[in-house]
Amino acid sequence: MAERNQGVVKALKANSASVCDICDLNFSERYGVEYIEAHHKVPISTYSSAYILSQDDFALLCPNCHRAVHIYMKKDGLEYLEIKKKLRYQCAL
Ligand SMILES: [Zn+2]
Ligand SMILES: [Zn+2]
Repeated sequence: MAERNQGVVKALKANSASVCDICDLNFSERYGVEYIEAHHKVPISTYSSAYILSQDDFALLCPNCHRAVHIYMKKDGLEYLEIKKKLRYQCAL
């Protein structure tokens, strides 16, 4: 399963700009390097082993937002979309 996921993530990164889903940071423009992290929107433990991941199951995030998402997941048990809403609102302030 891990190998199949890597294929999906690789394809997703290849097809997308290095732009954070939450703060819209364009990593390659800002830092001059192509870098972005893939985040599983749904915790892996909730998938059945027969489930085939698609690119929609991932969000591309900059390292800062990615870390913040994981902290919120742990702290408040929020789902990705709730955290995204929360963080996007904070970014806009
Ligand atoms: Zn970000
Ligand atoms: Zn993650």
